[in-house]
Amino acid sequence: MSSQTIKEVDAVVLGAGFAGLYMLHQLRSKGFSTVVYEAGDGVGGVWYWNRYPGARCDIESIYYNYTFSKELYEEWTWTSRFPEQKEILQYLNYVADRFQLREDIQFNTRVNAAHFDEELNKWLIDLNDGQQVLAKYFITGIGCLSAANIPKIEGLQQFNGKWYHTGHWPHEQVDFTGKRVGIIGTGSSGIQAIPVIAKVAKHLTVFQRTPQYTIPARNHPYDDGFIKETKQNFEMLKQAMRNSVSGTPFAQNHQSAMEDSDVTRQEVFENAWTQGGFAFSTTYHDLLTNEQSNEQAAEFIRSKIKQIVKNPAIAEKLCPTYMYGTKRQVLDSDYFETYNRENVLLVDVKESPIKKITETGIQTIDKHFDLDIIIFATGYDGMTGPLFKIDIQGKDGVTLKDKWEDGASVQTYLGLTTAGFPNLFMITGPESPSVLVNMPIAIEQHVEWIAQCIDYLRKHDIDVMETKIEAEEAWSKHCREIANGTLYVKGDSWYTGANIAGKPRSFLIYLGGFDYYTKRCNEVAQNNYEGFKLMKLKSIS
Ligand code: NAP
Repeated sequence: MSSQTIKEVDAVVLGAGFAGLYMLHQLRSKGFSTVVYEAGDGVGGVWYWNRYPGARCDIESIYYNYTFSKELYEEWTWTSRFPEQKEILQYLNYVADRFQLREDIQFNTRVNAAHFDEELNKWLIDLNDGQQVLAKYFITGIGCLSAANIPKIEGLQQFNGKWYHTGHWPHEQVDFTGKRVGIIGTGSSGIQAIPVIAKVAKHLTVFQRTPQYTIPARNHPYDDGFIKETKQNFEMLKQAMRNSVSGTPFAQNHQSAMEDSDVTRQEVFENAWTQGGFAFSTTYHDLLTNEQSNEQAAEFIRSKIKQIVKNPAIAEKLCPTYMYGTKRQVLDSDYFETYNRENVLLVDVKESPIKKITETGIQTIDKHFDLDIIIFATGYDGMTGPLFKIDIQGKDGVTLKDKWEDGASVQTYLGLTTAGFPNLFMITGPESPSVLVNMPIAIEQHVEWIAQCIDYLRKHDIDVMETKIEAEEAWSKHCREIANGTLYVKGDSWYTGANIAGKPRSFLIYLGGFDYYTKRCNEVAQNNYEGFKLMKLKSIS
């Protein structure tokens, strides 16, 4: 093929969220020509798309931001403990302006395909506007949860009302006043949206398939003194987060829940419940490795649900029975309290499955529910879903989907690269710590590693970097071994792919700790990128 008429850059980056913005900043500051393609008309990634009522982060705002710039940290002031979507989006817009990133972002543009051209040793990228671009490096920053799951329920197209998915919420305000609303799904998104919508809608019907263990977020505004102290401690916080197990500066608890007496354990759980946030999940180190400890945590939360929800039959339906934490821990604001409202109805769709959507609402096997609005809070095809939406083709015409057998045999090296796909990097890719770590910190570590790697390749005149198969086999084996020692793999969740009909089951999050992971990535770099084949064009031809 001829490359004469095609735009050419050093790097193409996908997505203008936390990952894409920082990747652009890093590469540009090292002098690489870079373009970011973003499907939305603004920056923000997940925070651009998730505008549903009640959307907010479940990591505390003072930790959920970039740490690469002390000035940026000092300039930006968060208003509350758990920031609202709007505020995070404002932050990312501020970052984009502060570092003049917009000039290298092409909005409203999707990458349909990226094929590695083995003659040119470059990625040929097809955009949805028919344009093509050539890049030496192809970097995905598309997140782990950007492929929406809209269940195939018969009749959706004939529904006369409006319907929305939480992850593709319209930019204009959705008015629930006087409306009969139905919401399907009680994960993080549904649980955040339900209390907010219930306050405005005439009536809200919640279609629940699996109840959740959710903990009060206990959000509150920050006071000036706290913010001042946090900013003064920036360097310490940054190091604590970057050297931690989870990307947050919390000390690890090494105690088993079974080592405490029943009374002490209740106190520990009660304190964490009062404190709110993720404190509960860190009360004991073995909640996700020891079934007995897990059941203690589960039973504590069930007892809370029964205390809060006045109608015992509804409380019983809201009590989860699966192993605590094997689905993502949800944080809420008045979720269980919402079921004490007269305008809220809980429908258990395991008991009474949804049969179809009609012109006027939802028909379960028992009853028809008249609705004006249906909300799908039904989650995402996680981890591999966003990557499989793009036709990514490596050497010998093999696509990523083919290589990974639709997700049945995912193999990566450090969650960053995969054999047969030279010069491709995945920010927070499968088998990296990703979603079980504070994401902006995980992203920064990946972005900095990739930028340093590309810089190294330039300095050493290396044109093509390719993962050795034995390196990725060893990494994937290591990931699986750690995951198999935990209860996560036993859960039916988007972590395991069990939420998507027909998706092969696999657990693609590295659980060995962010600190160990970072050390391992650094060792690979220090050892001149061990595990990779580094090739100069002269030696290839
Ligand atoms: P999710 O956790 O996968 O929850 C989806 C919900 O929809 C589940 O209750 C699921 O039931 C239900 N569902 C799916 N298909 C269904 C069907 N055909 N019929 C009935 N119910 C169905 O998705 P999410 O709530 O969007 O959250 C995904 C992840 O995004 C979270 O785990 C979190 O990592 C992230 N997130 C974070 C925040 C935050 O920071 N606070 C907010 C939103 C999302 P089953 O459980 O039975 O599958």
